[in-house]
Amino acid sequence: MAGIMFQDITTLLLDPQAFKDTVDMFVERYKDKNISVVAGIEARGFIFGPPIALATGAKFVPLRKPKKLPGEVISEEYILEYGRDCLQMHVGAVKAGERALVVDDLIATGGTLCAAMNLLERVGAHVVECACVIELPDLKGRERLNGKPLYVLVESH
Ligand code: AMP
Repeated sequence: MAGIMFQDITTLLLDPQAFKDTVDMFVERYKDKNISVVAGIEARGFIFGPPIALATGAKFVPLRKPKKLPGEVISEEYILEYGRDCLQMHVGAVKAGERALVVDDLIATGGTLCAAMNLLERVGAHVVECACVIELPDLKGRERLNGKPLYVLVESH
């Protein structure tokens, strides 16, 4: 897409120490926050979410693109710059009152994280925070999160 620089986190994964340090920074922040569910966004939230879930003693719930989850789902559509997209979550995976952390690799416009939070809040979960490795602050995605806290490790301008 014109003017958008793709931020590729796969190079980080090639360095085991850097990957571990990245996960550890999130674990350090969330280990005492009573998080019971880490919700990871397809696809790169599936890379960072599970190790954070394991280390904090939370379950991992994948938020997936349409037609990927085999069971009954709830869906949340969101607007992209060109068109629409949708995230789905298995019904019953998250219960009312659970404390959730939403994990993705990157926040750009914030639409994806918004949809993820809506799914969790629709089933009565409390979203404690959203966590990403990278933020593109120029796109002001943070402002779309309705005041929900966002924690990022790196800002890219
Ligand atoms: P947004 O909904 O606009 O915040 O977009 C965030 C989602 O799209 C994340 O799941 C990212 O993986 C992906 N994404 C958006 N922009 C980029 C980018 N410049 N580089 C890498 N991934 C991106």
